[in-house]
Amino acid sequence: MLINEFFYSLQGEGRLAGTPSVFIRLAGCPLRCRWCDTAYARDFAAGTDESAQTLLTRAAEYPTRHLVVTGGEPMVQPGLKEFLSVFAEAGYLITLETAGLRFIADLPLTLASISPKLSTTSPDTPEADRLNLDAIRQLIALYPYQLKFVVDRPHDLNEIADCIERLGTVDPERVYLMPQAARRDEYIEKSRWLADFCLQTGFAFSPRLHVMLYDGQRGR
Ligand code: SF4
Repeated sequence: MLINEFFYSLQGEGRLAGTPSVFIRLAGCPLRCRWCDTAYARDFAAGTDESAQTLLTRAAEYPTRHLVVTGGEPMVQPGLKEFLSVFAEAGYLITLETAGLRFIADLPLTLASISPKLSTTSPDTPEADRLNLDAIRQLIALYPYQLKFVVDRPHDLNEIADCIERLGTVDPERVYLMPQAARRDEYIEKSRWLADFCLQTGFAFSPRLHVMLYDGQRGR
């Protein structure tokens, strides 16, 4: 498996926000999102081949059973199921962060954390290449899930509502909206109006602890 980063931190987003977790960042992603905060991991060449057993040994140094596998885009890595199974068999509770570009069955997931990529995040990418609604429908039908949307402007909320409607079977309590921000001051400013929108609609507001606590610092 091509590994870009391994670190220990708090889960920053979604329903497990605040949970101490080991993070494994896989290298490689076919997308080029405008606000990508892990551009250093998008090329496959940005990873080094490491075995699950080696990483399992490293993970055991930390006081948590929560593992977050992120990217890049983990779903495009060959051998993902076998890789995750090593950690699941060792008792880890696995969150997989994905843009939902592909569906893979029988992954040992505690949480499929899906971030659909809308036109605002990838304006130069045709919808067919960035938003695979069929794959997302299969993921949310099979796995415990959350849908996370990054919101830059109030106007973005229309496209998010359209995406949720097209998906058809989404539990509103599993939808998280997060302010688009690379730095703390921007995060606080956008959080205020986004929090108001969440109160009006019933969607959950997700913090982004890595921005709030560490100002977007890499590996935190
Ligand atoms: S899907 Fe994720 S890793 Fe890939 S470009 Fe978009 S934000 Fe970056």
